[in-house]
Amino acid sequence: MTATTGRRLLLVHAHPDDESINNGATMARYAAEGAHVTLVTCTLGEGGEVIPPELAHLTADRDGTLGAYRIGELTEAMAALGVTDVRFLGGPGRYRDSGMMGVPDNDAPDCFWRADVDEAAGRLVAVVREVRPQVLVTYDEQGGYGHPDHIQAHRVATRAHELAADPAYRPELGPAWRIAKVYWNRVPRSVLERALAETAEKAPFPGVAEPADVPGVVDDELVTTALDGGAHAGRKAAAMAAHATQITVDPTGAFFALSNHLGQPLLATEYYQLVHGQAGPRLPEDDLFAGLDAGPDTAPADAPAATSEERVR
Ligand SMILES: [Zn+2]
Repeated sequence: MTATTGRRLLLVHAHPDDESINNGATMARYAAEGAHVTLVTCTLGEGGEVIPPELAHLTADRDGTLGAYRIGELTEAMAALGVTDVRFLGGPGRYRDSGMMGVPDNDAPDCFWRADVDEAAGRLVAVVREVRPQVLVTYDEQGGYGHPDHIQAHRVATRAHELAADPAYRPELGPAWRIAKVYWNRVPRSVLERALAETAEKAPFPGVAEPADVPGVVDDELVTTALDGGAHAGRKAAAMAAHATQITVDPTGAFFALSNHLGQPLLATEYYQLVHGQAGPRLPEDDLFAGLDAGPDTAPADAPAATSEERVR
């Protein structure tokens, strides 16, 4: 999709599939509206489990080809969402999946959890200064649910947000750029509780997830932004289904399960907490770009970008 609005959205995620679960409707909506949507995924998710028995041979303890396979799944998912700018931090396979907290993979020297935050952030700064997004979406400091790669994705994205705006930091990566708004992925507790009750009633899975199984759940009042992706729910479901090693989507597209086979609601409205930048005029916001005048070269009022561009060059 060619960008036509001057709006540029950057999402930073840990593994292929996280983007579709958390932001699939958001990405499809902004891509359809002509925004430039950039996804940076930090690992190939090669440590994941595999749901379909016929693909079980891909896992790290057998063929060890899951990472390469998941690149294909991500490609298919992004085609479903209409997103064309997809990158792996440092290139595919630069950072290995660290596995869940406490497993031996956490200690592998090439895993993302062991990566130097500043070094990894430098790679992301290069993307930020090239793309110049007005909006960044990532996880909270717990990574939403405590997975080491999600925590590290938060740290790297947060550090890159700071460094990209500093004209003194590595000018060879491009002119400084201050991202106007930073959001964390959220799910309001009341929304989740209602949706889980419906899941228990209707979803065709052997069990139902607990609120603790769902990343980013917070008290409703912390949520600043509700992005109605209802028109793109089918695209989100298709993108999630493309991650077939990781996700089972029910035939209605209203529910899904991960490898634990516990049903979860497939939310077409996606929720966010604004953690940096000015909120739009009305809360809750219904647009991540609310309050920004996102012309092609628009920088936010507090940004040094235009002047630093001259200084740096
Ligand atoms: Zn993940």
